[in-house]
Amino acid sequence: MLDTLTIRTQRTPASRLGELDPANIEFGKTFADHMFVVDYANGEWQEPQIVPFGDMAVSPANSALHYGQAIFEGMKAYRTTSGEVQLFRPTDNCRRLNLSAVRMCMPEIPEELFMQGLLQLVRLDSEWVPSQDGYSLYIRPFMFATDGLLGVRPSDTYRFVIITCPAGAFYNKPIRVRFEEKYVRSAEGGAGFAKNAGNYGAAMYPTKLAQQDGYNQLIWTDASEHRYVEESGTMNAIFVIDGRLITPAVSTSILDGITRKSVLQLARDWGMPVEERKVSVHEIVEAAQNGTLQEAFGVGTAATIASIAVIGFEGTDYTLPELTDAAFSRRVGKTLDAIRAGQAPDPHNWMVRV
Ligand SMILES: *Cc1c(COP(=O)(O)O)cnc(C)c1O
Repeated sequence: MLDTLTIRTQRTPASRLGELDPANIEFGKTFADHMFVVDYANGEWQEPQIVPFGDMAVSPANSALHYGQAIFEGMKAYRTTSGEVQLFRPTDNCRRLNLSAVRMCMPEIPEELFMQGLLQLVRLDSEWVPSQDGYSLYIRPFMFATDGLLGVRPSDTYRFVIITCPAGAFYNKPIRVRFEEKYVRSAEGGAGFAKNAGNYGAAMYPTKLAQQDGYNQLIWTDASEHRYVEESGTMNAIFVIDGRLITPAVSTSILDGITRKSVLQLARDWGMPVEERKVSVHEIVEAAQNGTLQEAFGVGTAATIASIAVIGFEGTDYTLPELTDAAFSRRVGKTLDAIRAGQAPDPHNWMVRV
């Protein structure tokens, strides 16, 4: 992609890359040398910059801190086997950020500004993109209100930032989950489809309760009846029942995941029946009881596929069959890895070279 936008770049005088121990990467702790920053004021985006990664000063009355006008995205850059760096469906993240922005009364960011900031930042810090199998550079674009004003109204000023951090291969040990029967992550008409910070904060307490009971995560159910599956933790939920892929249709309470879309596309490419619809807890429990529930997994950028080994409901744990290499979730995970590493054809043009 052409650099159609000149971004003033202040390089760090001392790279921290040498301090990184690639064998011991703790996710989200060590950040690459630079960050992209652009402020919004007077009704328009100001001059963008790339600067050394570092702390930022905000007013203690910053309205993101008080009223939660804060949104984010999560995406990754991958190193191919031949050494190039590429991004997975980055314009989809830009579009979703803007959907989140509209829901939270925040300004949309032009795709050109998002993409140029992203590409030029990742190019500058490209040595931070690890080359080990399954490793990547995690990219966190985010936007927050910056008005120092306690009045409750949308802020007039905002900051959009992109930071990045190397990420190791996620350990895909199959997880234990339970259907949440009391708390809700999100309700129809709420902001659950948006990637806004508050959705995550409010999910921590019920998740902690499930973890105290020996589960890794929970499967959220609908806010009014707790009868229908919503998502699995911070991932979309997918089930394989009798050879059919079944997943809750996206709605205002379910986030439209890019991994979900990609997994569904591959399933369709492979001729597998795909059903996007309401999925009841009852249907899943019944399929687990009668042995037709073959696979259940969460999908999202961080882990790609998180296989579910056990599903708890009303105090009973249902154990899923062990996965073989022929399992759909295994094959689709491997295919996505291969596309990202440049080892498999990319028929849908998902990859964007940096
Ligand atoms: C980010 C996110 C996902 C996964 O989306 P991807 O685009 O696949 O990373 C799913 N659910 C929620 C609630 C999320 O915030």
